[in-house]
Amino acid sequence: MTINHPAPLFQLFWFLILASSSITAKADSVDLIIAADYIVTMDDENTVITDGAIAIDKGLIVAIDSRTSIEKAFTARQKIEGKNRVLMPGLINGHTHAAMTLFRGIADDLPLMEWLTKYIFPAEIRFVNPEFVRTGTQLACLEMIKGGTTTFVDMYFHPREIAKVVDKCGMRAVIGAAVIEQESGYTKDFRDAMNKAESFISQWQGKNSRISPAIAAHAAYTISPDNLKFIRQRANKLGVPISIHLSESRAELEIVNKLYGDTSINHLEGIDFFNGPTIGAHVVWPTENEISILVKRKVGAIHNPTSNMKIASGFAPIPEMIAAGVHVGLGTDGAASNNDLDMWDEIRMAAFIHKGRLLDPKTMPAAMVLNIATSGGAKAIGLGDAVGSLTAGRRADLIQISLEATHLVPLYDVISHLAYAVDAQDVQTVIVDGEILMRDRKVLTIDEDEVIRKARVIAAKVNAEIRSSQ
Ligand SMILES: [Zn+2]
Repeated sequence: MTINHPAPLFQLFWFLILASSSITAKADSVDLIIAADYIVTMDDENTVITDGAIAIDKGLIVAIDSRTSIEKAFTARQKIEGKNRVLMPGLINGHTHAAMTLFRGIADDLPLMEWLTKYIFPAEIRFVNPEFVRTGTQLACLEMIKGGTTTFVDMYFHPREIAKVVDKCGMRAVIGAAVIEQESGYTKDFRDAMNKAESFISQWQGKNSRISPAIAAHAAYTISPDNLKFIRQRANKLGVPISIHLSESRAELEIVNKLYGDTSINHLEGIDFFNGPTIGAHVVWPTENEISILVKRKVGAIHNPTSNMKIASGFAPIPEMIAAGVHVGLGTDGAASNNDLDMWDEIRMAAFIHKGRLLDPKTMPAAMVLNIATSGGAKAIGLGDAVGSLTAGRRADLIQISLEATHLVPLYDVISHLAYAVDAQDVQTVIVDGEILMRDRKVLTIDEDEVIRKARVIAAKVNAEIRSSQ
């Protein structure tokens, strides 16, 4: 008789045990699992996981581990296999003028000041309008996605058009509304440029987590100290970073010295310009003291080796800046001075020019040049907590690269291949914020044929007008 009561309780006990164990054993469901023979995480320890996988959910990296562990712990609505593939963080292009793809090859083999004042500034006044910026930026995003770039820092006119393109194509960007004192075709003068920049910021701030609006101050030699101070004041008030061309060429230093009796970085420090997040492009000619200012003020320095060599601006002291503790990133600059947006070229250039310049093959080793293109670059542009390395909790911005091309056979060291042998064409799949932007080299968010057609139409117009005015 007494046995009747414990029996149901006993059954209930086992039911609860089994139910709870089946819950813990049941794999979590995520949006995507992507695998690879090698995952190059670019975390602080430069961890490489062999035969690994990443679980991605709601735009975030949920877990990263061996493939068997991930497949045991998670089920996914979508899976991307990883045989003969590498996964790494998406590349970060820390300085560009995206829409200038439409000026690709318009004027080459000239020094910076002549190139700017005789060709680029006049062409911008004549041709740059919303349609130009929309198409040029689409073309740039297409090229960047196809080359594995997931984030870029832009500096150009009509920033609303840039933001609309980025919003739609799925990339991540810091979009700096260009502020310059002279008439630009987009802005009449400094006041007008600032009003337009602030109205752009108020429209886009907080609207899309992939888009960070910013103010792009052209340079210390094109904007007066009072106006630069005003830019810093407004940027701090609005809570946005400033990007600026910084100590780019000796011609810049001559102008700044003539006007203010100082070098560019000292001059800007003297007016407290670095009193807030700043992304400095180029930084070719800093003195030792100026390098310590960049460290103290946490100014990001973006290295653009191809542009600096093509315009013969010089060699930025990048290994010296990294050793001093400057946050260094890597960029292409605009396609008018590069002439493409291929970050793999920049990775290689950044390794080779400093080895050659310092007669030291050990300087800028493979892992370091990959760092400035990913996690170091993310820190330099103020996004270090969100992107740049493949670690749980960061946004899912990553690229999958094929190891099948002839130039990647054999493979002894995956880091070596990524720095010295991989090309843009080897990038197979690109993911930003958990969304697939390119799958097996097909860009899913931009109509490639249509953009190329529109770009050619605009370029034909530019060409015809330039010829008729010559
Ligand atoms: Zn630039």
